[in-house]
Amino acid sequence: STTSPFLDPGPLTTPGALALVHLSRDNVLPIYLSKESGTVDGYTEGAVINTRFGSFPHSTLIGQPWGSQIRASIVDTGSRGRKRKLANVVDVDATGNDTEAAASSTSNTKDVKTAASGFIHILPPTPEIWTSSLPHRTQVVYTPDYSYILHRIRARPGAQLIEAGSGSGSFTHAATRAVYNGYPKDAKDKRGKVWSFEFNHDRYLKIREEVQDHHLDGIVQVTNRDVYNDGFLVDGESPEAECIFLDVPAPWQALPHLSRRKPTQSQLASSGLEYPKETSPEWKSPLRADRTVHICTFSPCIEQVTKTVEVMRRLGWMEIEMVEVAQRRINVLREKVGLNMPLERGTNQSPRNVVEAITKLKQIDGRFKEFHKDKQETDVKMEDADAEKKRGDQHGDANVVENSADSGDSLTMKPWMAGRLIHRTEGEIKTHTSYLVFALLPQEWSEEQEAAAFEKWPCGK
Ligand code: SAM
Repeated sequence: STTSPFLDPGPLTTPGALALVHLSRDNVLPIYLSKESGTVDGYTEGAVINTRFGSFPHSTLIGQPWGSQIRASIVDTGSRGRKRKLANVVDVDATGNDTEAAASSTSNTKDVKTAASGFIHILPPTPEIWTSSLPHRTQVVYTPDYSYILHRIRARPGAQLIEAGSGSGSFTHAATRAVYNGYPKDAKDKRGKVWSFEFNHDRYLKIREEVQDHHLDGIVQVTNRDVYNDGFLVDGESPEAECIFLDVPAPWQALPHLSRRKPTQSQLASSGLEYPKETSPEWKSPLRADRTVHICTFSPCIEQVTKTVEVMRRLGWMEIEMVEVAQRRINVLREKVGLNMPLERGTNQSPRNVVEAITKLKQIDGRFKEFHKDKQETDVKMEDADAEKKRGDQHGDANVVENSADSGDSLTMKPWMAGRLIHRTEGEIKTHTSYLVFALLPQEWSEEQEAAAFEKWPCGK
């Protein structure tokens, strides 16, 4: 099968490729690059993205090194006094909401004559950018959480990973990259695989379609299943999983199926499952027998954590631990300083080292001004820094170091040249997403495993 663009996008953008168009930090638009063009009134029009930064025909986005900056083009569809149609136009309004416009829709008929004004960046798909641009069908797991989770559950190339539910596929994409160990022709060992379970039929269809579109079939196996009742065997076979991630409302109800041996009635009762349906007459474990299994459950409420931990204990899970990933963005910048000479206590003289330092800074500033004749640019950057600071002050952040008074004759330093190094956290960032419960189920040693391990032991024979 073709390599997934998420795993190996190649050096250049190609027709048909999934590309992530970066408009701004918070506005990334996934598109399929299209070479297709239609002939309208004798004129050939290709696919175009219209943004507030200008218009970008796909033809200008194809054949570019990934990560390229692309300048806007002038796209004139209103010539000859009448409205003309564009094929595959995506209009992105100022708020970043895109409205996909098929050839017949009304937005196609509007005049999109646009002056070439800005630029965009064309990025290859990665799980991280996909997470921030994917169509949300549910709450999703974000990068700070999933990178930590994948590390803790030991998701690595070749691993078999169980995930429930698939939701919007955010975690699925990250997990896929973590377990990927090559396509069949390259893979020496058993292929790493994500066994993803989703009980909502529409979401199941959508994630299955995405898996196909992203060429992840074979690495992700999606099953439409209620895992509380029906467990994790696929066509009666065990995924032999060693990593598990549960993002479902009641993870404890899925836990009895994730045992090494058939759970007892009292274990089932404690999980709230009295009579689970038997999918096959012989109970089979979905877990890999010769490895310790690592699990993570993801729950927004502490009550869910308590219940999960209780059932985990009953089922023999060990090293149970709860973690909360608190994300904070920390801005570090040099604060603008007014260089009023401080006075030595009890004197009317400035300390010698301060005088020397300020003289030196004045010299640097002079040289700097000389070098950058283009004052406009520096002023803009200065304003940015000031605006940043004001925003910080409005949020009442305690760790902003107060600016010293600026006097008329003081030397105003550029933020990247001098000044106090300050940092502040962005108050508005949501820090709590969910509680993560980690645990492990140790490998159980059978007589055969013990014998096989003994064979391998250097002084075994
Ligand atoms: N981790 C996903 C992501 O990053 O996009 C989001 C998962 S979403 C919060 C939870 C999903 O679990 C929903 O899509 C829901 O339909 C599914 N779900 C809930 N109960 C389930 C069950 N018993 N079996 C399978 N899926 C279930």
